[in-house]
Amino acid sequence: MRRYFLLAMLTALLVFPVNAIAQAQAQAQAQAQAQAQAQAQDQAQAQDQDQAQDQAQAQAQAQDQDQDQAQDSAFGLQEGDGPALATKADAPAESESVPVKSVPALVLAAPSKAGVGKAFLVRLTSDLPLESVSVHWQGREVVPSISVWNNRHVALAMLGTDVLTERPGKEDLVVIASVDGKENTLRRTVRIVPEDYPKQELTLPEKMVTPPKGVYARIEAEGKQTSAAKNTVSAKRLWRLPLERPVQGKVLSVYGAQRILNGKPKNPHRGLDFRSPMGNPIKSVADGKVILVGDHYYAGNSVYVDHGNGVVSMYFHLSEPTVKVGDTVKRGQSVGLTGMTGRVTGPHLHFSLSVLGELVDPAPLFTTTADNMLQ
Ligand SMILES: [Zn+2]
Repeated sequence: MRRYFLLAMLTALLVFPVNAIAQAQAQAQAQAQAQAQAQAQDQAQAQDQDQAQDQAQAQAQAQDQDQDQAQDSAFGLQEGDGPALATKADAPAESESVPVKSVPALVLAAPSKAGVGKAFLVRLTSDLPLESVSVHWQGREVVPSISVWNNRHVALAMLGTDVLTERPGKEDLVVIASVDGKENTLRRTVRIVPEDYPKQELTLPEKMVTPPKGVYARIEAEGKQTSAAKNTVSAKRLWRLPLERPVQGKVLSVYGAQRILNGKPKNPHRGLDFRSPMGNPIKSVADGKVILVGDHYYAGNSVYVDHGNGVVSMYFHLSEPTVKVGDTVKRGQSVGLTGMTGRVTGPHLHFSLSVLGELVDPAPLFTTTADNMLQ
């Protein structure tokens, strides 16, 4: 940080002085300093992103009891979360003079509210080994991978809702964890709150809006195939946040946009359309395994990548896939080339993210770390 600051400062000073001295040295120095600070900040941020995962996890285990307690209240930790939870308020008065370290902490971090269509994270942290953990949400179950950091045991799960089907209201979240041979059930209520998604009116050739009868059987068969892929829940978590952007181009159409095609309301847009020229390589957003490569009526050439623990990414309208089913891909590895196959009017990348079969808004996941999402 200090090194970058000095470097940036030096660069800024080298660029500025000649004219600046003659005019207003004081002003130039102020500007240079501001610029140096901005640069230092940018560099620090870039570095932070690279290390975000490590830091998030390091922070998780480095937090002391006080911090844990502060965080618990931020996540609406409720009473009756099992015997494993120790708080200062619960501790007997004598514990202040006699150090008692017998009650291990089992801490669940989960949001008290989430927007319709948004993904969120749930994290369970334990001092003792987590023998088993299962997370239950809207009739679905995920058994998250458990990692160990400085003797603390951490299970992280991504959950979310789908703008197509979800309505604001309360949803139950249940986490069942076995520690030291004892099963603990932790319950939360997550309030699903409205999100302001834009309306989008489009006029398209009628044949693109209403498919001809001849393709109904094809669309149905493809629906079954893609539904199975979207609902894949595999055992090992390979994703980490932030996700890698699949292409650099800007987002042309956001998630949740309510589409009105030729005057008729249609399903909301359940992904992001990225600007991407023909043939531009598309990157996998995380490590994973290719589970479906198809040529579908709406989506055209498509690639589905399983990132583990219920998270699946989808890439549509490719000119061609560059992977096949069963391939293992690394974060940033190309899965295909941008095209305009399927029901589209021009080349772009449509990207969707499925969490336990629900298509969530991927946008926030490209910029946030797990730790930020849990704060
Ligand atoms: Zn799209």
